[in-house]
Amino acid sequence: MRNLFQISNQREIDKMKSDFHKKIYLAFFLGMVIALAFGLLFAPKSGKDLRDQFLKMCKNYRKKVVGELYVGNLNSDVFHLSSCVHLPNSDNRIVYRNRDEAIASGKKPCHSCNP
Ligand SMILES: [Zn+2]
Repeated sequence: MRNLFQISNQREIDKMKSDFHKKIYLAFFLGMVIALAFGLLFAPKSGKDLRDQFLKMCKNYRKKVVGELYVGNLNSDVFHLSSCVHLPNSDNRIVYRNRDEAIASGKKPCHSCNP
């Protein structure tokens, strides 16, 4: 059988539990606000900048591993760097592993990209 002291004690415990939960929610909420603020303040770059940088890194990595590729046009005597804006249609391309190979097959360097 509960006496008055036990009831009072139970109320104290309930109040302490309630306060404890409030503190946990408050800490969680404050943590989210602080994380959001730091994320906004220290975000390295916008999505587009990050994607562009990533693409550039991939291209540089490919150049290091494979070397620059040279693309010749099957319908003309010109060859380009693989990054040139004047590349022929994909049906008319022939790929050379180096500049000498392109020259040896009778191709001339593009005036735009100057491979
Ligand atoms: Zn070119």
